[in-house]
Amino acid sequence: MNNKDVIEYVKKAYRELTNNSVYLPQENTDVAVLDEPLIGFAAADDPIYETYKKPEVIGPEWMAPREWMEDAHTVIMLFFPRAEGIRTRLAEDPGPVVEAAELGFAQAGKCAVKITAALIAELESHGIKVCSPGRDPRSDMKTTPFMNGEDQDLHFCPTWSDKHAAYACGLGTFGLHRHIITEKGCCGTLASSITDHEFDPSPRPYTGVCDNCIMCGACVQRCPAGAITMEHSRNLMKCIQYGDELEKLGGGECARCMAGVPCEHRNPAAKEKAPV
Ligand code: SF4
Ligand code: SF4
Repeated sequence: MNNKDVIEYVKKAYRELTNNSVYLPQENTDVAVLDEPLIGFAAADDPIYETYKKPEVIGPEWMAPREWMEDAHTVIMLFFPRAEGIRTRLAEDPGPVVEAAELGFAQAGKCAVKITAALIAELESHGIKVCSPGRDPRSDMKTTPFMNGEDQDLHFCPTWSDKHAAYACGLGTFGLHRHIITEKGCCGTLASSITDHEFDPSPRPYTGVCDNCIMCGACVQRCPAGAITMEHSRNLMKCIQYGDELEKLGGGECARCMAGVPCEHRNPAAKEKAPV
């Protein structure tokens, strides 16, 4: 298999989804949940990984692709953008619990799992070994409290980070809200597969960690918990606390900072294409 085979396979799996919509009882309507995924590749020995073990980036517990799989050659990343009907409802509904987000995100997650599983099965049918860090028993997370400006915050040190892997695979850069901003925005989910097969690395069309963020501050305004500031990015302690309160009210993932913002479904820093 080569890169093109993987890309075409993922697009086909997306087209053939039979569950790419959700019924919203309050509106008595069905809406699509997922747009076509983006795919990126990075070499397992990419020098960028050396920086990830630094405490100021992720930390020493983070495991490089070849620690997950000794003979790893390539990391494949998928970004699953949520569809417009879900995003706009989340952007326009001020309530703490938004039906479209609660049901739509869950259904989008199921579709993402289905496509990822289909890709892994396809790779394995070609004799390619695959490790999915998110489903591996070595997957773990260490959290350390620290002072972020005036506020208590948490530093997350996971054994793997889909976001950092997405950055390495050329899919996008971090935003002020700490989500990855891809060419299809930030409102979506990621999935990683480490393989022992050699695919061509994708170009990384950026050099800075936050190149795709235009620092507009819209996510600061959107956050109901006051967890994002221009100076100190997203405070994970405040964000988690708000997520816990939302759960008690019956809401799903908050994600307000991903919708109703310029980076919701596009890369706001991308140059407008010249007319042909
Ligand atoms: S809303 Fe603006 S400041 Fe926040 S991450 Fe997106 S581009 Fe950056
Ligand atoms: S997920 Fe919600 S609480 Fe957390 S930073 Fe985003 S908007 Fe704020």
